[in-house]
Amino acid sequence: MEFMAGNSSMTDIEFMAESSSMADIDVEFDRNVPRVCGVCGDRATGFHFNAMTCEGCKGFFRRSMKRKAVFTCPFNGECRITKDNRRHCQACRLKRCLDIGMMKEFILTDEEVQRKRDLIMKRKEEEAMKESQRPKLREEHQKIIDILLEAHHKTYDPTYSDFTKFRPPVRDIPESTTQSSPIQIQNFPSEDSSDLLDCFPENMESNFFSYLLGNEESNDGSPDAASSSHLSMLPHLADLVSYSIQKVIGFAKMIPGFRDLTADDQIALLKSSAIEIIMLRSNQSFTLEDMSWTCGSNDFKYKISDITQAGHNLELLDPLVKFQISLKKLDLHEEEHVLLMAICIVSPDRAGVQDTSLVEAIQDRLSEVLQTYIMCKHPPPGNHLLYPKMIQKLADLRSLSEEHSKQYRCLSFQPEHSMQLTPLILEVFGNEIS
Ligand SMILES: [Zn+2]
Ligand SMILES: [Zn+2]
Repeated sequence: MEFMAGNSSMTDIEFMAESSSMADIDVEFDRNVPRVCGVCGDRATGFHFNAMTCEGCKGFFRRSMKRKAVFTCPFNGECRITKDNRRHCQACRLKRCLDIGMMKEFILTDEEVQRKRDLIMKRKEEEAMKESQRPKLREEHQKIIDILLEAHHKTYDPTYSDFTKFRPPVRDIPESTTQSSPIQIQNFPSEDSSDLLDCFPENMESNFFSYLLGNEESNDGSPDAASSSHLSMLPHLADLVSYSIQKVIGFAKMIPGFRDLTADDQIALLKSSAIEIIMLRSNQSFTLEDMSWTCGSNDFKYKISDITQAGHNLELLDPLVKFQISLKKLDLHEEEHVLLMAICIVSPDRAGVQDTSLVEAIQDRLSEVLQTYIMCKHPPPGNHLLYPKMIQKLADLRSLSEEHSKQYRCLSFQPEHSMQLTPLILEVFGNEIS
C-alpha cells in the first residue's frame, strides 16, 4: 500500500496493462514483434507489471511480491527458465522477472483492485446512462417524417410533366443574349434599381427591363411592342406559380396537425407562406452549375432573365438566387427538406392567425422531430449547426417574401399585367385592382 501513495497514475498503467490494450496497440504498430514471455518464452498476453509476459509468470510475480517471498535456488542460481521448467526454480524465475523490468510498484493492492473494479463498474454505468440519454428517433417521430415525405412525393413531380399544360414560356431575346444578361444584371446599380422598383412609370419600366436584358434598342420601338415584350414570361410563370400554390396547399393539408386548425387559420397560414414554400421547394430543381431552375427540357429551364420577363427585378432575384445557393449547399436530406417546409407553413407569427398556441404546438413538435432527426441521422460534418442554419433560412424567406409582395403589388396595380394572373394567385397574393 505504501508504495502506491502519491502515484495515482500507476493504477491507470496497470489498468491498461492488465486489460492488455497496450499489448494490442503494440501488435497494431508492428505485427512482426513476437508476443513472447520475457521470463519463460511462453506465449505472452501483454504487458504485465511493466514487461511482456505470459499469464503464468504474471501470476507468479504478483503472488511472490504479495507474499514477500524469499526463494533460494537449489542449483547454482543460473537456471535458464523455459515454459516447461519454469516451476522448478522459483528463485531464478523471480530473478528473471526483475531482470526484464517487472516492478512490484505496478501491482495493485487489494484496495486498488477493488477501486479498479468500481471504476470499471462506474464506467459501464456511465456508458449505459449515456446510451439511454442519447436522443432516439422515436416511432412517432418517424411516422411524422414518413407522412411528410409521402405528402411531398404526392405534391412534387420531379419530372415536371405538367409544365407543358401551362401557357407556353415566351422568351423575347435570343439564347445568346440571355447568356450574357445575368452579368449585366449583376452590374446594375442597386440604388437605381430600387428607385425603379417603387411602382415605376411605364417608360421607366421598359428602360429598366431593356437595360437588364441587354436589349437597349427595344425601347425605341412602338409602346405596344415594348409593353408586350417586357413580361413575355408572365403568363407561363403565373401558371407555374398558380400550379405550385395548389401543390403547396395539398402538402399543407397532409402536415400532421394542420387539419386540427380552423379553416380561417389554415387559410391565413397558407396565404402568408405559399410564396416561401414555392421558393423552398424550387430548390429541388435549382442547379449550382448554371444557377438556373431546371425543370425538364430547355423550355422549362428558368434563369434570372426569365423571371425578370415576368415582372420581377433584382431586388428580389439577387437575394433569391443567393438563398437558393446557400440552401443547396446545406445539402439537406429529403427528410429535413420536408420538415423545413412544414415548419415554415405552420408558423404561429403569421398575420391573421387566431389560435397561435395551437399553431405553435404543431410547429414545436415538427421542430423537435427535425432536431432529433439531425442528431440521430445526419452525420458530421454536415450536421454542424445545421438546425440553426435551417432556422436562419426561414428568416431569409421572410425578407424574400416581403420583397416579393412589394413587387407583386406593383405588378398587380397594372391591369394589363394582373389580367395575366390566375384567380388563385389573385386570391392568395392579393388583388389590388378590385
Ligand atoms: Zn512466462
Ligand atoms: Zn535456479
